[in-house]
Amino acid sequence: MQFGFFLESLEELDMSLKKLNSSVEVFEGNFSELRKYIDENYPQSKIHVNHTTDTSYFRNNFSDFKKHFDLNERILIYSDFGVQTGDVNRDKWAFEWNKLMKKNLLDIPKPNIKSSHIGLTTVLEFKNKFKSDKKTTFQSGGSSKAYELLNSFLMDRSHGYSRNMSSPIEAETSCSRLSPHISFGTISIREIYQKLEAFYPFSNNKSDLNSFRKRLYWHCHFIQKLETEPELEYCSMHRMCDNLREKENKELIEKWITGQTGYPFMDACIKYLRENGWINFRMRAMIMSFASYNLWQPWQLTSPLLAELFVDYEPGIHIPQVQMQSGVTGINLPRIYSVTKQSRDQDADGIWIKKIIPSLEGLDPDEIHDANLNGSYIPKIVDHKESSKFARDKIWAARKGQEFKTIARSVYLKHGSRKRRSA
Ligand SMILES: Cc1cc2nc3c(=O)[nH]c(=O)nc-3n(C[C@H](O)[C@H](O)[C@H](O)COP(=O)(O)OP(=O)(O)OC[C@H]3O[C@@H](n4cnc5c(N)ncnc54)[C@H](O)[C@@H]3O)c2cc1C
Repeated sequence: MQFGFFLESLEELDMSLKKLNSSVEVFEGNFSELRKYIDENYPQSKIHVNHTTDTSYFRNNFSDFKKHFDLNERILIYSDFGVQTGDVNRDKWAFEWNKLMKKNLLDIPKPNIKSSHIGLTTVLEFKNKFKSDKKTTFQSGGSSKAYELLNSFLMDRSHGYSRNMSSPIEAETSCSRLSPHISFGTISIREIYQKLEAFYPFSNNKSDLNSFRKRLYWHCHFIQKLETEPELEYCSMHRMCDNLREKENKELIEKWITGQTGYPFMDACIKYLRENGWINFRMRAMIMSFASYNLWQPWQLTSPLLAELFVDYEPGIHIPQVQMQSGVTGINLPRIYSVTKQSRDQDADGIWIKKIIPSLEGLDPDEIHDANLNGSYIPKIVDHKESSKFARDKIWAARKGQEFKTIARSVYLKHGSRKRRSA
């Protein structure tokens, strides 16, 4: 699903480059093979790379590649988004972010004078190697799609964004839906920011656009956490929280991720996500909260399963968000979402739930919200009230001691959000 989006984006980039007498060619192999290939075939070349914050698998391999070409100053690394590498000063972070967002965008490259075909795999050849079974319900890749989404959002769809973003029904069209494009780089945060600023004075939806601008900032603020502390891929931000959930239950996890919890709203959200490769923030938070609090499962096991379902998967947002919704950061107040309350708030008449789970047709909405379906639906895998109480007691008991508070303070100094200052 994610690879399909990437291939479509690559294809469009290739077509655009062809107009400039250039093209995309694909090298297949790992970083040390690529290093060897460049050394043998292009010993004088410069290497231009976009920096991305990633999981340790790519990070470690890339780090050796970078070191090798750094030695003779052949590698130029461009920072993606507003994420800062090297020594980060959290107190000046917001200032630097604002400064970067206001910097001029790069011009479109000039056409190549000479043909640049170097004999690697063309995009078409590369694409044909993979069987495409992409569902039409998944978002499509390519910069043109990103611009269409941004324009329609600024001009029209942002009306009511701040309110509608909480509902899985409204959010589908009211949110920008730019996330996979930002994750795969078909549009940059800086370009979105600058188009937003240019349009803002003419908009009738200023408060909605303010909420949107805040989220562009959060995007980089979250990724910065993984960049600053790559260990977060495996360890809780507050290390004492790693001992909280030691036992795993594979059967419970399997039922959760396939939408068979017995709670119709929860199951509908998972099924919707599986069908569309996307769901809104509030429901992502509820899905994660259910796994970590109600099922009491270690986030390290559930997080990758959820990541696989998002077209927009971005480890720098996903992992810190998963940790936040699991109550293991030490610096955010734990929030246990009530599935029954969300079900009532977001789909009072149960129409959306019934559309996704047609077997519930004819059943009373109240019984659907409370998951009191007495044999008319699959049994609940956990009691919501009891499990929420168990989780609340455990989490708050862990947070009580002085040692917890001392560590939480150092987590705040490393990762905590400060008041925003403009450049
Ligand atoms: C458990 C969990 C996992 C998540 N995993 C991802 C992920 O893998 N990739 C991802 O892009 N987002 C993730 N999010 C954040 C958020 O849900 C999505 O960014 C958002 O739903 C994408 O839809 P949109 O582009 O229409 O968002 P909009 O509301 O239109 O927001 C615009 C952009 O702002 C950024 N943004 C919005 N909300 C947040 C947030 N809370 N934190 C950080 N950045 C934000 C995103 O880049 C988004 O594309 C996760 C949230 C949770 C709770």
